[in-house]
Amino acid sequence: MVKNLNNLRADFPVLDQTVNDEALVYLDNAATAQRPNQVIAALTHFYQTDNANVHRGVHSLAERATADYEQARRKVQTFINAAEPETVIFTKGTTDGLNLVASTYGEQNVAAGDEIVISIMEHHSNLIPWQQLAHRKNATLKYINLTADGQLDLDDAQAKITDRTKIVAVAHASNVMGTINPIKELARIAHNHGAIFVGDGAQAVPHMAVDVQDLDVDFYAFSGHKMMGPTGIGVLYGKRALLEAMPPYQFGGEMIGFVHQFDSTWAELPYKFEAGTQNIAGAVGLGAAVDYLTAVGMPTVQAHEHEIVNYLLPKLTEMPGVTVYGPQDPANHTGVIAFNLDGLHPHDVATALDMEGVAVRAGHHCAQPLMTYLGLTATARASFYLYNSVADADQLLVALTETKEFFN
Ligand code: PLP
Repeated sequence: MVKNLNNLRADFPVLDQTVNDEALVYLDNAATAQRPNQVIAALTHFYQTDNANVHRGVHSLAERATADYEQARRKVQTFINAAEPETVIFTKGTTDGLNLVASTYGEQNVAAGDEIVISIMEHHSNLIPWQQLAHRKNATLKYINLTADGQLDLDDAQAKITDRTKIVAVAHASNVMGTINPIKELARIAHNHGAIFVGDGAQAVPHMAVDVQDLDVDFYAFSGHKMMGPTGIGVLYGKRALLEAMPPYQFGGEMIGFVHQFDSTWAELPYKFEAGTQNIAGAVGLGAAVDYLTAVGMPTVQAHEHEIVNYLLPKLTEMPGVTVYGPQDPANHTGVIAFNLDGLHPHDVATALDMEGVAVRAGHHCAQPLMTYLGLTATARASFYLYNSVADADQLLVALTETKEFFN
């Protein structure tokens, strides 16, 4: 039996409000999650007591700020089971981490005639960096297709990944359809062909236990704000040998070994990739979010979201005039569900739901090639998190029924 998470709602003051005279039901967690009091308090505490720049001063505040920042790194390391803290690089977010890999590892290792393989369900963040790298290098970008119910087609992956492939980059979980992808298997296939595997963990790390060593991913990027941390902070995990061989991403303060007038050497990991003043408070806040998720337990978070999807998915699928996209099997689903209502633009659906206090996303979800592949321009998307409940799913169903009646 899943631990009852309903008491957690009290930790999220933002959820306790009315929108258009209705109690807010926040179902846009795939875009960004809400922050608990514990994360807000960690940010306030940092700014009220320890704020200073890190790794620079020898005064007490600088030492405390540095300790806070490095402790946050170790919390993330434990959370994703990275072997060493030096392999955890703080970034601005998933987009920043993936661009880092494309601009450094990609720039160094991809040549004309090589192949980069991604899937057709990628978020633009895990697509455009590879598309542009392929352009720059005269390399070929290949897309892994989907099965009829929105799962990654492993047979197609086997066919697309060849000895010419240098990089395979796939989302651990889809931000549109909620599909959980078999990235451990994809990493194995990539390695068999001498390629590296890059995981986009933006929609996975907040929702399930992730063990980067067990997955054997070479790089793995995710964002703080989708796991209840602040915006503007994220993480890139990378294997040490790869990170060490890569050139820096950006140049400036903090990332140097020694600077001569006409040449420079670079700092050790992870600082080689952390140029300039970092989002120190953001890292501290992310550390607090990791503490929060760890206290709840990631298996509990995942089981809770499963319970909601198990309840909602069949009801939504059976609702007349509703089309649901993605896996029909709740077992292979995160708490992200994309759907459309017959004859209605998803923006109108989202606006009507907002009138009922239900916040969902509508649009192409930064996945235009997926939309084209599915023959769509946009969908509505409801996405759940640990503070949502089956009652929230019911609210969505009621609001959808009312929306359909209103437009009929
Ligand atoms: N990848 C996926 C699967 C996402 O869902 C998102 C954000 O929605 C991103 C990448 C980009 O994350 P960020 O905007 O935090 O860099």
